[in-house]
Amino acid sequence: KNFEALGLSQPLLDGLAEMGFENPTEIQQQAIPILLQHDGDFIGLAQTGTGKTAAFGIPLLELMDTSSDDTQALILAPTRELAQQICKQLDLMSSKLGKLKIVPVFGGANIMGQIKDLRRGAQVIVATPGRLMDLMKRKEVRLDSLRFMVLDEADEMLNMGFKEDIDYILSKSDMGRNIWLFSATMAREIKQIVNTYMNNPQEVKV
Ligand code: AMP
Repeated sequence: KNFEALGLSQPLLDGLAEMGFENPTEIQQQAIPILLQHDGDFIGLAQTGTGKTAAFGIPLLELMDTSSDDTQALILAPTRELAQQICKQLDLMSSKLGKLKIVPVFGGANIMGQIKDLRRGAQVIVATPGRLMDLMKRKEVRLDSLRFMVLDEADEMLNMGFKEDIDYILSKSDMGRNIWLFSATMAREIKQIVNTYMNNPQEVKV
């Protein structure tokens, strides 16, 4: 099966072709059709390097409302490197979709520059939890129009001590649906997040 068989739009297919992505990986094959229906929570159990970024990135980009400047999607990642990598891949995948504002925010970098970027509009925010929480407390990030939240490498985020920050973010964002959690393992603390914030998630394991 190739990407066309997954029913993706032409601009996205063109972007993927330009990146040299021809056939979906296992997790992409399984997750994309489910996430495109976008009516619920989702758990993807997959190791790093299996193509997770495109597994959530492709449906996310397909479901964006490009006519709205609101922050519609938030992607949380454990490290600055991963956040930057995700941004880069989303930029490449969406290169034929028209201008999408995808803004990275992460710790260890000057916050003023990030505030400036956010004020210019952010349809998608890719963030590490601590910095995002800081920006929320400064009222530089508002999550009331959020439609999708991705927790990437959730087990890593918990290992790094981001549990309280994630709890803060999830409790303030009031997401009733469309929380997409990716993790290599289903640790006890992950189950706690699932039980507290997610409803009947569909689960895929590769
Ligand atoms: P990820 O697990 O998302 O970090 O992806 C791992 C690597 O595989 C990255 O370098 C991606 O660019 C690449 N990749 C992801 N999906 C595909 C695909 N369908 N075809 C070719 N390469 C891919």
